[in-house]
Amino acid sequence: MAQMAAGNRLDMAVPQGATGGTGAPRAVPTAKADTVIAAKNVTAGYENRRKKTRLIALRDISLEVRRGEFLAIVGPSGCGKSTFVNMVAGFLKPLAGTIEVEGKPVRGTGADRAMVFQDYALLPWRTVEKNVIFAMENRRDRPSKKEQAERVAEALELVGLTGFEKSYPHELSGGMRQRVGIARALVTKPDILLMDEPFGAVDAMTREAMQAEFEKIIAQSHQTVVFITHSIDEAVMLGDRVAVISNRPGRIKEIVDIDLPRPRLDGSAKTNPRSAELREHIWSLLQAEALGAKEAKS
Ligand code: ADP
Repeated sequence: MAQMAAGNRLDMAVPQGATGGTGAPRAVPTAKADTVIAAKNVTAGYENRRKKTRLIALRDISLEVRRGEFLAIVGPSGCGKSTFVNMVAGFLKPLAGTIEVEGKPVRGTGADRAMVFQDYALLPWRTVEKNVIFAMENRRDRPSKKEQAERVAEALELVGLTGFEKSYPHELSGGMRQRVGIARALVTKPDILLMDEPFGAVDAMTREAMQAEFEKIIAQSHQTVVFITHSIDEAVMLGDRVAVISNRPGRIKEIVDIDLPRPRLDGSAKTNPRSAELREHIWSLLQAEALGAKEAKS
């Protein structure tokens, strides 16, 4: 009962009605019971013990992510986006408030969550398959060798890298390396995929191709995804919702429902006038932040 009350409070704190224009329905489940991640009044930051200073990165954030939802996060540089996903991953603790996954406070990293980093974080001396296996090797609940091999084959097939098992990272393009990073995250079958600017380091053409592939991968794996990007276009193309964060200390400025049909990256969404409206709406929110930051400085 107590938990239900907390959930209701949280729902009120999130501006869920914000659709940035027309009220078309969204494609994601809305049942409250389907909340996978719940941030409750979270304040986060970093302490410098030597200088005895404290930097507040995020202030009083309340947000929930639903099962199977793709939540994109955009906001000015330094507004606390990475801080947020690092807390969900369990790398960092909030200074105040709680982050819950499946109703339980996050107390550290866990097999239910996997992170994909911008710089791929591959081990250069290991082949593609050995890089993917790495995610399972040191786990207490690691599957048998046979199952590990099956899972690696399955994950590599999902990201379109069958045939590259024995290649080394330096033999692959940036896009392929990032797909290895995604396979490594998916191989452990996490409930939640956390992605911090995963396509930030690849060129524009590869990025578009990767987004399209990634949309297919996610459609197949039904993953819950929290995805940081600085690209409004990417957020609109991939997200079920886009959380727009304000200047630091970051707060949720608005959560925008992306009511575009899927698949989107087959080209249909680009020409849909609604996607232009959504991009413009998010852009205007961020523009207001940029102006606010300028005024604060002058
Ligand atoms: P974003 O991902 O939105 O660019 P971050 O979450 O990386 O923002 O950072 C938010 C703020 O916290 C920034 O001002 C950044 O300089 C600061 N910060 C991030 N990581 C650390 C850290 N390990 N120690 C001290 N300050 C940090």
